[in-house]
Amino acid sequence: MDLTLTAEDRNFRAEVRHFFENDYPQALLHKARSGQTLTREDHADSQKALQSRGWFAANWPAEFGGPGWSPTQRYLFEEELDRAGALNVIPMGVIYVGPVIYTFGNDWQKRDWLPDILESRSFWAQGYSEPEAGSDLAGLRTRAERDGDHYVVNGTKIWTTLAQWADWIFCLVRTSQEERRQDGISFLCFRMDTPGVTLTPIRSIDGSHHLNKIDFDNVRVPVANRIGDEGRGWHYAQFLLTNERLSYAHVSRKKQHLAQLRVLAAQTPWRDGSVADNPVFMYKIADCETQVAVFEVTVLRALCAGASAPITLAPAIKILATELAQKVTELQLELAGPNALPWLDRNSADWIDAIPDLPAFAPVATTDYFFERAQTIYGGATEIQKNIMGRALLKAAAG
Ligand SMILES: Cc1cc2nc3c(=O)[nH]c(=O)nc-3n(C[C@H](O)[C@H](O)[C@H](O)COP(=O)(O)OP(=O)(O)OC[C@H]3O[C@@H](n4cnc5c(N)ncnc54)[C@H](O)[C@@H]3O)c2cc1C
Repeated sequence: MDLTLTAEDRNFRAEVRHFFENDYPQALLHKARSGQTLTREDHADSQKALQSRGWFAANWPAEFGGPGWSPTQRYLFEEELDRAGALNVIPMGVIYVGPVIYTFGNDWQKRDWLPDILESRSFWAQGYSEPEAGSDLAGLRTRAERDGDHYVVNGTKIWTTLAQWADWIFCLVRTSQEERRQDGISFLCFRMDTPGVTLTPIRSIDGSHHLNKIDFDNVRVPVANRIGDEGRGWHYAQFLLTNERLSYAHVSRKKQHLAQLRVLAAQTPWRDGSVADNPVFMYKIADCETQVAVFEVTVLRALCAGASAPITLAPAIKILATELAQKVTELQLELAGPNALPWLDRNSADWIDAIPDLPAFAPVATTDYFFERAQTIYGGATEIQKNIMGRALLKAAAG
């Protein structure tokens, strides 16, 4: 693996940096940096700004409207996006289901669904988990029974992120009862406004509304909306999950947060000086920085290996990415100290003025800390990633 950047890569990075500094909506940068609650319109505006350069679907091949970048360019782009503090792309359409559509979908699905994702006209939700099927996803019970050229869907999905913004949902549904549970599952897409779809919001520990429960009551979905073959949904779902797990890396954001932490430490009083004089705290930052540097090399290995990456790499990246993200928020909380205690509702417009003299980073640190607890659960909990790695290693050892 060659980590040196070519002149072309350096020019590319300069072009992307120039875009974020000059052409990306600066009001969105301000809103994101100051920790204000972001709306669907904010995300759509951000994504449209990226797409004005053809950069939104960074992971898509040129054939389907992506920029067709090399792994290095993708990495540099994400680095610059995080460096600028720009909004994350909402992954359910562009990172999760988009590649499933262009890899396994038929021609009309590609023609009808991909352009709306690219132009942020449609937002998607991921309907995998159910009340009795999270880690044990193959135990899902949502049924889709054939009735002519439709399926009739009944069941419940839960923890569905940002489904309140979604126009479409992709769902794993049971289309038959097979001995091997994974074999009776299909991958179905339908509009969220289809009659019989009911959404119930779930407020999470950080005070925000990201999550939902969705009930399906005799929802009629055209058979034509099924991606790929009936009963092969598990295969497409695993393809999607690998992309999902790799997308958690956000190396640059971790570096940014750690650099910010050093600045904030120098501004936070400690004894006669600042926290930057506290060797114990500064050691913790340095330790985390070292782990992030090692993690970065792991991510670059995965990007360079592409489809030939060992099966253990995506779960390893998921574990490292999420545990490091949590460590960063723990340091932010530790630095905030007692200032982290007041609970402020960031959904209210004037939350930042609620307590005079409160350092602005403190309430954000508290909500980020709570939000990031979920990272080691969603996309498959840490224990499940370890099981996947363990099974792969034992299989390889057995020859
Ligand atoms: C913030 C957030 C957003 C989410 N967004 C979505 C979404 O958009 N769409 C979606 O479909 N789902 C989503 N999820 C659901 C997520 O995928 C599940 O929460 C996750 O798969 C775990 O399932 P569970 O919650 O049912 O926990 P359980 O499966 O009940 O697990 C509970 C605990 O037991 C452990 N455990 C379970 N089985 C084993 C085992 N075999 N070996 C060792 N340990 C085990 C787990 O690691 C965990 O610690 C989201 C979850 C969160 C928290």
